[in-house]
Amino acid sequence: MKIFCIGRNYVDHARELGNEVPDEPVVFMKPPGSLLVNGKPFYYPDFSSDIHYESELVIKICKNGRHIDPAFASRYYDKVALGIDLTARDLQKELKKKGLPWELAKAFHHSAPISKFIPISSLEEGPINFHLEKNGEVVQRGNTEQMIHSFENLIVFLSRYFTLQMNDLIFTGTPAGVGPIAVGDHFRGYLNGKPMLNCQVR
Ligand code: ZN
Repeated sequence: MKIFCIGRNYVDHARELGNEVPDEPVVFMKPPGSLLVNGKPFYYPDFSSDIHYESELVIKICKNGRHIDPAFASRYYDKVALGIDLTARDLQKELKKKGLPWELAKAFHHSAPISKFIPISSLEEGPINFHLEKNGEVVQRGNTEQMIHSFENLIVFLSRYFTLQMNDLIFTGTPAGVGPIAVGDHFRGYLNGKPMLNCQVR
């Protein structure tokens, strides 16, 4: 199973980090062991002192494919979840400066808390909305209409470089409002207003 992550997929978030808005998706990966499931707590690691939350819609691939035609891309995913792409911003800044890969900042153990998946077909038609609360206060809001690259475009793009396989995941990018986490914080994520994700920082 592969976990793809997309950077800078919301204009307002790219700007808040002072990044250019790219024409093509920014892609990186996390290993399967980065997933943190069932509402288990996240233990703040000792290698960073500036870990940020980035809440994101995550889609699950349901069919193997390469060079997927845009007309058929919507058949390649069938479920959605809410995830947090935890990012060691201090390490990422250093790595970016040196032009080095981002894995240490993005792919570490339990860097991807994630909710259960629900079938896309169970959602109302129209854009998918999500928001993240930190200690009861809303810190991020997003919806699929604000994405620069749609789910389908991401599938088409990724499948030019990788074979997409059943159960692969795509973290589809975060809207504005990212910020630091601290020991004791409690995060709750909502999809179309329904509570989905629970994560305590210890
Ligand atoms: Zn992200």
